[in-house]
Amino acid sequence: MELWQNTVESLIRGVRDNHWTPFDIVKAFYERTRILDQKIRAFIRVPNFSQVSIPDPDAVLPLPYAVKDNIMVKGYQTTCGSRLLWNYKAVYDATVIKRLKANGAVFFGKTNLDEFAMGSSTKYSAFFTTKNPWDLSRIPGGSSGGSAAAVAAGFVPFALGSDTGGSNRLPASHCGIVGYKPSYGLVSRYGLVAFGSSLDQIGPLCRSVRDAAYIGNILIGRDKKDATTVDYPTDLMARIENPIAGLRCAVIKQSVSEEIDPHIRFAFWEAVKVLRNNRCIVEEIDFPEERYAIAVYYILSPGEASSNLARFDGVRYGLRIPEASLTEMMTETRNYGFGEEVKRRILLGTFVLSDARYDAYYQKALKVRRLIAIKVQKIFKDYDVLLSPTALYPPFPIEENTDPLSFYLTDKNTVLANLVGLPALSMPMGFAKGMPCGLHLQCRPFSDSLLLNIARGYEKSAGLYEDEHYPFAQPEAR
Ligand code: GLN
Repeated sequence: MELWQNTVESLIRGVRDNHWTPFDIVKAFYERTRILDQKIRAFIRVPNFSQVSIPDPDAVLPLPYAVKDNIMVKGYQTTCGSRLLWNYKAVYDATVIKRLKANGAVFFGKTNLDEFAMGSSTKYSAFFTTKNPWDLSRIPGGSSGGSAAAVAAGFVPFALGSDTGGSNRLPASHCGIVGYKPSYGLVSRYGLVAFGSSLDQIGPLCRSVRDAAYIGNILIGRDKKDATTVDYPTDLMARIENPIAGLRCAVIKQSVSEEIDPHIRFAFWEAVKVLRNNRCIVEEIDFPEERYAIAVYYILSPGEASSNLARFDGVRYGLRIPEASLTEMMTETRNYGFGEEVKRRILLGTFVLSDARYDAYYQKALKVRRLIAIKVQKIFKDYDVLLSPTALYPPFPIEENTDPLSFYLTDKNTVLANLVGLPALSMPMGFAKGMPCGLHLQCRPFSDSLLLNIARGYEKSAGLYEDEHYPFAQPEAR
């Protein structure tokens, strides 16, 4: 087994047992990145070995990690995958970065994303499209596609992503890794460039459920700089190995409907069998209102985005196209700086927030969000976890001209967690048409430790990994 194939936990164990040093670790990941990122293009800019610091061997987390390029790392460019910010350098560290630093982890590089995290493929990045390490002709998913590809290809042991409507979970599903979105309010958003402030949450992408819990523990905590964070002390590792027998799982019928690729559906029902063999109770339930979640998301998230993106005006951050008047300068800067998809979201958002449409769209969507939340609350009275496939289809070929609406629909199963603030996770459950596909689990707000417990229970008995050997994409063979 190669060094770069290890999980976070086994890498740390190796340091403790003097199998290798943090220098060996950084070097191994760096070498692999240097050779293979030319094919994958996970990083916005390939890290330079001389600029990566070597972790302290006695640290809690003596490892390198990658960061989605919408999270601030002081002194480094934070492009958000946009022309508008291509030259913007962060002037402070995001709280999550501070926390990782305090635990000894070292920043390795910034990863590609759909512009301002709007998208599901990285095709909306202003710079280039990241390739799926399992099949270079396919998308890695998005918007945290660079982070997911970097982990799947063995460039870093873990990475940070942001999830507004599924952006950690969808690429995790497409790349065969674990993507975790914590309950809204557990992790500080300070230093994350806001997309939909009531939906955004930062979380780890990694290779095992235990790693997700381990990194999650470091990220979680109240932050004075983000008033939406809560003081909810929770140890994600505490009950992770508990037996899962007797847990009640619900499958929303609408989330395994006909529109889902049959191979993914097959893999999903196989996963359900594994849980049933573990004496979990799995029942199908009807939740007709679930179908409105995607519509509500695509009204509220553009609304929030249009207001959050108003600050990119050529005056304060990044790009400025010099023009005679202030209005022309702002117009030209935004016109040139934003890509097509971001403009579409701003237009949609401005429309639903406009005086004449506010009640009919934005206000109504807020009401439906509330109704959905009440219904979900009821479901969680009878059940511990919601199960579904993460993605509806295997990752699209990059060359395929997917229209925006089809891309929006790929978020169908993931947006609910953001609308209601649920902790959610995608983990490998097998393959569909030769590409990885993910099992999606959601629990009641702040029961993140239960979520990780169930996911770990499935991971242990799914037989997808042998002796902690995680399935790896092999881009070198392609
Ligand atoms: N694909 C969704 C969108 O485009 C989700 C993005 C995200 O979670 N950042 O809005």
